[in-house]
Amino acid sequence: MHSGRAAIAGIVVAGAAGCNSSNDAPGTAHPQTSATGKNTVTAVIYDPIYNKHFAGTGHPESPRRLEAIMGLLNETDFAGRLEIIKPRDASDDGILAVHSKRYLDQVREDITSGRKMLAMGDTGVCADTLDAAVKAAGGICLAVDDVIAGKYRNAFCAVRPPGHHSGENRGSGFCVFNNVAIAARHARKKHDISRVLIADWDVHHGNGTQETFYSDPSVLFFSTHQWPLYPGTGRADETGAGKGAGATINCPFGAGAGHKQIVGAFRDKLIGAADRFKPELVLISAGFDSRLGDPLGGFCLTDEDFAELTGIMLDIARKHSSGRLVSTLEGGYNPAGLAKAVRAHCQTLASYEA
Ligand SMILES: [Zn+2]
Repeated sequence: MHSGRAAIAGIVVAGAAGCNSSNDAPGTAHPQTSATGKNTVTAVIYDPIYNKHFAGTGHPESPRRLEAIMGLLNETDFAGRLEIIKPRDASDDGILAVHSKRYLDQVREDITSGRKMLAMGDTGVCADTLDAAVKAAGGICLAVDDVIAGKYRNAFCAVRPPGHHSGENRGSGFCVFNNVAIAARHARKKHDISRVLIADWDVHHGNGTQETFYSDPSVLFFSTHQWPLYPGTGRADETGAGKGAGATINCPFGAGAGHKQIVGAFRDKLIGAADRFKPELVLISAGFDSRLGDPLGGFCLTDEDFAELTGIMLDIARKHSSGRLVSTLEGGYNPAGLAKAVRAHCQTLASYEA
């Protein structure tokens, strides 16, 4: 338990000074403990620094995304079962577990020299981008630590910039560091986790994540995505290589795909693969640009579908990884729609019963 916490509008904020349980406002919710003694709160990783990352005027990956998400989460009737956690910085070693030193050095140089775009990719940046990106990757690592330690039941990381297009030597597709990949490697190294499942339901293929683990049998990467579409990878015959052969599963669908195809793929392909793989930790690259009405995607998933996908992932985590699940935001570019989809996602996470 944190020593001080306060519920500003609804969500409990960890570490807020000057408050204790005796003088909290009426209606303030506190992290709850189940009959089995397990913490039943879902952590939400968030820091205002994420919204200081500015990718360019009129850019769809804008601060409005997280403003909409956090605003709506604060108003929900399950806000008391969420707790906002401030991220920490990812270490250089953590970043270098996925990216090359040359790329990390170049990102630092690009940003500190005032460039508006990363030299090695098409990602727009500003002076605060490095701090945001380091705390995005570090935030997910912190969520992994806290969920494995049992401080929180599961976690959703409301971070910017996103990460799943970022590879060893580049930061493309609005991404700087590959947050979910850094977290997976962190779990392997710090917690001796042998097998990590990463499921990616963003409308775009998580090419950076696939590339990172393509020959790595310790990570099962599963992706549903629109194809053809940026970045152009993710054909069904891309299934891994070497010792990682079979540990990459791609499910590409044409524009217009929705519940039948995408939830169907999670049920028909992922559940069986997870039963064989037996992940000790479940991560989600939660991109909500696969939602109906997103300006960058052509999929038709509804908020109910995202709740159902979340439930499938929770079932997998319950069966194989003692419920340990960490989800992180990737895409989603209609701020109002994104916020509703995240609300459905977080409500399902917060409703999980071990
Ligand atoms: Zn996307």
